[in-house]
Amino acid sequence: MQNPLRHPDQAFRLPDFSAIRPEHVLPALDGILQDYHRGIERWLEAGGDANWSMVESETDWADQLNRAWSPVSHLNSVADSEELRKAYNAGLERLTEHESWRQQHPGIFGAYRGLKESADFSGLTPVQQRIIDLELRDFHLAGVGLPSKEQEEYRGLVMRLSKLGSRFSENLIDATQAWILHFTDSSRLAGLPDADLNLLEGIAQSRGESGWVVDLSAPSFHAVMTHADDSELRRQVYTAYVTRASDQGPTSGQWNNMPLIEEILSLRHQLAQLLGFENYVEYALARRMADTPGSVLEFLDSLANKARPAAKLQIESLLKFAHGEGARLPLEAWDIAYWSERYRQCELQLSDEELKPYFPLEGMLKALFFVARQLFGITLVADDEIDTWHPDVGFYWLQDADGDRFAGLYMDLFSRKDKRGGAWMDVCLSRRKLQTGLQLPMAYLTCNFAPPVSEQPCLMTHNDVQTLFHEFGHCLHHLLTEIDWPQVNGINSVEWDAVELPSQLMENWCWEEDILSRFARHFQDGNPMPEDLKCRLLRSRNFQKALFLVRQLEYAMCDMRLHLEYDPENPANPLDVLEQVRRQVCVVPVPGWNRFLTSFSHIFGGGYAAGYYGYLWAEQLAADAWGRFQSEGPLESEIGDALRKEILSVGASRPAIESFIAFRGRPPESGPLLESYGLL
Ligand SMILES: [Zn+2]
Repeated sequence: MQNPLRHPDQAFRLPDFSAIRPEHVLPALDGILQDYHRGIERWLEAGGDANWSMVESETDWADQLNRAWSPVSHLNSVADSEELRKAYNAGLERLTEHESWRQQHPGIFGAYRGLKESADFSGLTPVQQRIIDLELRDFHLAGVGLPSKEQEEYRGLVMRLSKLGSRFSENLIDATQAWILHFTDSSRLAGLPDADLNLLEGIAQSRGESGWVVDLSAPSFHAVMTHADDSELRRQVYTAYVTRASDQGPTSGQWNNMPLIEEILSLRHQLAQLLGFENYVEYALARRMADTPGSVLEFLDSLANKARPAAKLQIESLLKFAHGEGARLPLEAWDIAYWSERYRQCELQLSDEELKPYFPLEGMLKALFFVARQLFGITLVADDEIDTWHPDVGFYWLQDADGDRFAGLYMDLFSRKDKRGGAWMDVCLSRRKLQTGLQLPMAYLTCNFAPPVSEQPCLMTHNDVQTLFHEFGHCLHHLLTEIDWPQVNGINSVEWDAVELPSQLMENWCWEEDILSRFARHFQDGNPMPEDLKCRLLRSRNFQKALFLVRQLEYAMCDMRLHLEYDPENPANPLDVLEQVRRQVCVVPVPGWNRFLTSFSHIFGGGYAAGYYGYLWAEQLAADAWGRFQSEGPLESEIGDALRKEILSVGASRPAIESFIAFRGRPPESGPLLESYGLL
């Protein structure tokens, strides 16, 4: 029987999602890894020459691994099951082992170094040279130069960290799924708009229940926090949400991530020191655009100094408003979102419910595709024939002006049970030259919008629309690549603090008046959004934005300090570090039992360790890049072309700072970012 994850042949096009079973995972990986390792042995037996054809062979093996692993890892996020989770974890262990083996292999390292030092190097293209340079950097960061005992130690640390990260995420999923509130009548849910009630009814139905179910998925949590009039209910849901996977709250102790956090921080520090770095931040920055911990701290501090006074004023006016409306002061943590929404409605006369009818998903996809066509001359065409993992998933081909397909995109937009929360983009395939032609780049765009209920189409909040544009920006970065080497094309190897540039930049178009006029149309009668509503929406962009900024700064500073100040002799309690950061930047009350860290999966279960600052860092780049569109025209194809040529199509084939300068004509400046937050 054919294993749908193995495609040694060159005719491979797209994964056969409906044929993939957990039992395919290990045999496929083992087969490819065996070929890989045997290939290396044969090459060494033949003399182990340092030449480009060896790099080509490695590219092929690595790409075969990606073709097998990408769909598995993706399914693990969007169609979680116990069997798949087991297979995924076993596969992850294999890959991590392989990665360590390869990164510390003296023969392979010697070949890259030999090639770099040989006369052939100058004859390679700049992209090829860049690949060699990045490989050499990564070899060093993987401890290739260490004595063998320490290499072993390094491998042990990497394996253990990978397992801890997976466990952290699993605990969080389990804890998130373990808690619900079931209502047989909706009186306690007073204040929730119909759409949110429908959402909660849908959650109940998917669990085989009647009535309404509040769970801890993001849409359900936000619905209650923003709208429920019953403050006791908000307290209950808030408590369950911010204590997930911790020693507090309703499921206290069952999936406690706190010991994992302590171990992760300790092992990361050990890893960094083993490689000769002072701390984990220095180690992480070796692959980033920011060059020193000091430059990151300076960036964050200077933002905090400007943001905090503004945030304080904003919270004061919120309190004044709430008091005037009869709220008891001080407000509790679970009151803030609720009163913010009341305040927003009063100040702007704007509610999500009023806006949503103008943002049906279909219309917003049209808007997105329109922007892509205007800026880059590309068209997205749906293809229902492509095999996917769920009936809700759509597939689109990207076509150039001549109608030629050059990339493809899966869109999985609705929240489901067994699907990881949040929104993200991931790589399915990378562009690469095969003997049979070009392997086209493919990406996954995943969101968790409220699914359509009964007859009504999916109606989005404007925040959802912004999320969609954001993730689409990531996808374009991957799909518009013109580099044929997966090592450095698309989003591969792009510095993490610059990788949010295209996504954050893309958000601007969903705020463009021209786009709203064309595409924000009522889902029933097709009428454009009334002028007055549009004005209020645009005004809302900066409403209480400093409060949002200080929250981002809290996450970023906490992440930096946890990793930068870690002292193995006397490790600080991570909760104390969080508390200190909160004292420095927070302007809203946070209860002592809030365990935000145990669900901070960005830095403990994902790849943002010592890198959360990157969102703001890249936002500075994006705001500055947007300045060029603002002054020369947001739908100007000439600037679209420049963006594509200098940033999107080149990926990591050169440093991000060079790409930015090539597009903007100068290094990044902070003014546009401050201006976008109203802080100038
Ligand atoms: Zn992003």
